[in-house]
Amino acid sequence: MIARLSVVVFFSLSVLHVQAQPRPRKVFISADMEGITGVVQPAQPGPEGFEYGRAREWMTAEVNAAIAGIRAAGAAEIVVCDSHGNGQSVLIDRLPDDVRIVRGFPRPLEMMQGIDESFAAAVFIGYHASEWSANAVRGHTISSARLLGVKLNGMEVSEGIYSAALAGQFGVPVAFVSGDRLAVTQVQRIAPAAEGAIVKEPYGYHAAMTLTPARGQALIREGLSRAMGKLGSLQPYRIRTPIELEVGFKLTIDAERAAFVPGLSRSDAHNVKGSFKDMTEITKLLQVLTSLELP
Ligand SMILES: [Zn+2]
Repeated sequence: MIARLSVVVFFSLSVLHVQAQPRPRKVFISADMEGITGVVQPAQPGPEGFEYGRAREWMTAEVNAAIAGIRAAGAAEIVVCDSHGNGQSVLIDRLPDDVRIVRGFPRPLEMMQGIDESFAAAVFIGYHASEWSANAVRGHTISSARLLGVKLNGMEVSEGIYSAALAGQFGVPVAFVSGDRLAVTQVQRIAPAAEGAIVKEPYGYHAAMTLTPARGQALIREGLSRAMGKLGSLQPYRIRTPIELEVGFKLTIDAERAAFVPGLSRSDAHNVKGSFKDMTEITKLLQVLTSLELP
C-alpha cells in the first residue's frame, strides 16, 4: 500500500513538473538605514545630513548585495520594502529591473508592507537595535522621537523582532539580518537559524567601529547565499495571539491620549496596554499613535 502510494505520488509530481515551470521563490527584503555600514549619526540617515546622499548609496548597495547573494543560490522574485524615514531612501534606478519596490508612508504594514503567504523568506538589511539596548547605534523602536519602547506578550522587542513577528503571521521565516552587533543578536535570539552580518561594533548611540561599505556588502552577499541554503529548515516566528501590546511614550501626554483609544488603558504614566487580534492590527494602531500632532 505504501509502495503503491509513493508511485502514484511520484507520478503526479512528475506530471506537475512537466506541466508547470516552478515559479521562482519569493524573497521579501525590508531595508532600514541606521544599521547600514558606516551609518552612525543623523549626518547619514536624515535628508538634512551632509552624508545622506552617500548613505543612500551605501544602503542601495547593501540591498543589491543581498539580491546578488539571494540570486547566487537560484532564481528569485524579490520585493524591496524601503522602510527608513520617508520610505524613499533606496536609489530605485540602481536596482535590477525585475525587482519591485515599496516606497512612501503611511502604509498598513509599515516596514513589512507587501509581505504575504507567498514569500519563502524575509530579509532585514540595515536594521538597528531596540530602544532599551544600551550603546546600540541609534537604538529605538518604531519612533525614536515618540516611543519609549514596545512590548509584545511582555517582551521588549526591536524592530527586527517586530518585523519577524509580522512575517511570522504570514508563515514567513526570517532568513537574514544585517546591522550592528546588537541589532543582529537581538533578531537571532528569536530566529536562531537566521544568518547575520555584523557590519559595525557599536560604541554608543552615535558611535561605532564600522567596516568599509565594500566589506559590509561582501558579508551581506555571502550571508544571503548561506541563508538561501537553509530555506527549507527555517521556522517562522509565530507569537501567541491575541497579542498583549504594551507601548511606552516619551511624553506622558501621548500616553494620556493613547488611552482614549478603545482597547487601550494606561498601565503607568508613560505606558498603555491592550490586547489585539494580530500584528496587522497592532501595526496600524502604532502608526496612528506615533503620528498624533505634538501637543
Ligand atoms: Zn528603524
